[in-house]
Amino acid sequence: VAIDVKSLGIVFYPAPVLRQRAAEIDLSRGVSDDVRAVAARMIEVMREEEGIGLAAPQIGLSWRMFVVDVPKNEERVERGAGLSPGVMLYTDGPVVYINPKVTPATGEITPYDEGCLSLPKITGHVRRPDAATVTAYGLDGEQFTHSAAGLLARCFQHENDHLDGVLIIDKMSEIARLKNRAALRELEKRAGVR
Ligand SMILES: [Zn+2]
Repeated sequence: VAIDVKSLGIVFYPAPVLRQRAAEIDLSRGVSDDVRAVAARMIEVMREEEGIGLAAPQIGLSWRMFVVDVPKNEERVERGAGLSPGVMLYTDGPVVYINPKVTPATGEITPYDEGCLSLPKITGHVRRPDAATVTAYGLDGEQFTHSAAGLLARCFQHENDHLDGVLIIDKMSEIARLKNRAALRELEKRAGVR
């Protein structure tokens, strides 16, 4: 493995890597050991930080890959019973999405208070469709599709935004942006000394 994955940790706003469009991962020879090691490290960091999702740019790699782990709970199981079969509300364990293509559903847009591991202390309502589908490659190199609703669908969209250099502060209401202004400035100030 050419990458020292243990050295990879959370990258904070305003790091330039968070604003880049990430590059597709070359899968022509299958999933490389580097990609595997990075995915494992991403899962480790996500757990350490108690996050439900993490995109590769958030550990400093401009790669199109994210990991998601939305736990099963009673509310999600109950809501799932009312949805079409196959629509996921939780992952019940970490899932790796390589070169994902996320398609948000048309229809109901819901606001939800989102946070981001790269933007500590910043939260605000972000409006997104309540459902989304992701087609991606797994660590086995096989393509798969997940259709989701609720928090999991939101998570797909949030993580996919990271691969396009988009952050929640770009999508928040003006009020939320004002509320977070001091915290954002603080992060910008700290950027030089990290
Ligand atoms: Zn984020």
